[in-house]
Amino acid sequence: MAARLAQASVSFHFNDDDKYDDTHVTLTVRDVNGLVCAQVDSDYGHLNVVQKDEGPFGLVILNRQTSDLLQNGNFTIRITPNGHDTWRFNFDLVLALSDGSTLSGRVQGLELSRNNQQQEFELQRLLSVERHGQEISVADGPAGYFQEGDLQSGWRRCLKCQGMYFAGSGNGGICAVGGEHASDGSGDYLFDGGASGQHDWRWCNKCQLLHFGGVQPSVCAAGGLHSSTGSADYVLINNDPGALGQSGWNWCQKCQVLHFAGEESLGACASGGTHSSDGSGNYTLLD
Ligand SMILES: [Zn+2]
Ligand SMILES: [Zn+2]
Ligand SMILES: [Zn+2]
Repeated sequence: MAARLAQASVSFHFNDDDKYDDTHVTLTVRDVNGLVCAQVDSDYGHLNVVQKDEGPFGLVILNRQTSDLLQNGNFTIRITPNGHDTWRFNFDLVLALSDGSTLSGRVQGLELSRNNQQQEFELQRLLSVERHGQEISVADGPAGYFQEGDLQSGWRRCLKCQGMYFAGSGNGGICAVGGEHASDGSGDYLFDGGASGQHDWRWCNKCQLLHFGGVQPSVCAAGGLHSSTGSADYVLINNDPGALGQSGWNWCQKCQVLHFAGEESLGACASGGTHSSDGSGNYTLLD
């Protein structure tokens, strides 16, 4: 099932000491087709910006759009100042999805005034996650690739670390061996959005690897811990000899990554040495 918009909110931080209570404000989230999905307006009476820090303001959800159509949409902020009011501010936008994931983004140093009343932001650029101090877009990940009742492609085996990573965006991630993952010669693996099996496998938006998220987050080759912000809940077939596909995939108890155990080496692990297959089931992937 594709994740759908569940909640939306915006917080403001103003960069000078003015009061803004005379200014009319409208915030709008639209999908890729221009459909209004969430909106709040000072006319509704519950948006009253007078302090240096305000919010979060909940937007009214008008259409529970799917995350892929949302992520290609935009966010508009429009003010209608009374007199010469100038807004200098930062804002945070947070979109909560029905699968429990959250998309969030921040814009800093924005200025709106009577002569420049509206700004529009592409959500794809705005909604981002931290990677190594760099900003990357959640839309670089697989979220937009899941289609309801459909198979998600774009996954590859890294021949350096033996991990399963998302290559569909062209982002090579970060490999425990160094540099990006390499998938020369790997087949294209598929994940079934409607599969039954073991839940809680997640895509890491930092290293791009599929890892088990049902325990404490574990060490990531990109530094720190894996982050599953923006990931779907992937369901894997475990210990089923009759299942279609390629078996021999294992869980690493050190770094939580799904890795292929059918080669001579188990592949480099972000926590040092090679991955471990101790305590793992035998997972089967569609290829
Ligand atoms: Zn790798
Ligand atoms: Zn990671
Ligand atoms: Zn490992």
